[in-house]
Amino acid sequence: MEGKIHSFFAGGTVDGPGIRFVIFLKGCPLRCLYCHNPDTWTQDGAEIHSVDSVVSQALKYRGYFENGGGVTVTGGEPLVQIDFVIELFKKLKEYNIHTALDTSGIIFDKDNQELLKKFDELIKYTDLVLLDIKHIDEKEHIKLTGKSNKNILDFARYLSNNNKDIWIRHVLVPGITLNDEFLAKTKEFIDSLKTVKKIEVLPYHTMGIVKYQNLGIEYRLKDTLPPTKEEVRHAKYLLGVIKDVA
Ligand code: SF4
Repeated sequence: MEGKIHSFFAGGTVDGPGIRFVIFLKGCPLRCLYCHNPDTWTQDGAEIHSVDSVVSQALKYRGYFENGGGVTVTGGEPLVQIDFVIELFKKLKEYNIHTALDTSGIIFDKDNQELLKKFDELIKYTDLVLLDIKHIDEKEHIKLTGKSNKNILDFARYLSNNNKDIWIRHVLVPGITLNDEFLAKTKEFIDSLKTVKKIEVLPYHTMGIVKYQNLGIEYRLKDTLPPTKEEVRHAKYLLGVIKDVA
């Protein structure tokens, strides 16, 4: 089994517990307006690596894994290559390595029985899912990403029903997700899940703009400023991450 890979990063500290060996896979069906990895959208120019070769690279960083770290697969949208991720995680679990999956869950489809079997297999070897809830409102989600949020919310429920640990990630974008009503609805949804261990509020930033320039793609949020510290605290409060805004 081979994967189409964008890059590797050894020493990640924000994509799961401890220090991580991070694998960026190529391909994503979403087009989030704030995406800072537009170079992962297509599979053009991907490096091709076998599961065994990726596992050998990961094993060079065993020291991370013995101290509470592990391997994180991200993208792009890693589940575009779900068969590769299943094989990779299965192999990593043979070495007792912690596995985290950073996904939007967009390819989940509760009505596709064949695909569901793959998800059932995938979660056997996945210790933690970092789930991006991009927008709680369906219409706004379509405006933000190009697709409905239905599969993403269904995926969150599937993970909860299967007792799989989740860290929720939510990008805070002024004028898009920075909105009291939407944040309250997001909190309500998160509260309906049983296995959320952490909620991360990620302030929007513009660090990816240069990639858009290099790729000749229009950056549609060029007039949007990052949220202020106060706005981030307010959002964290509404999402229940902190107890007060002072
Ligand atoms: S899901 Fe991730 S990689 Fe895909 S467009 Fe959105 S932010 Fe970018």
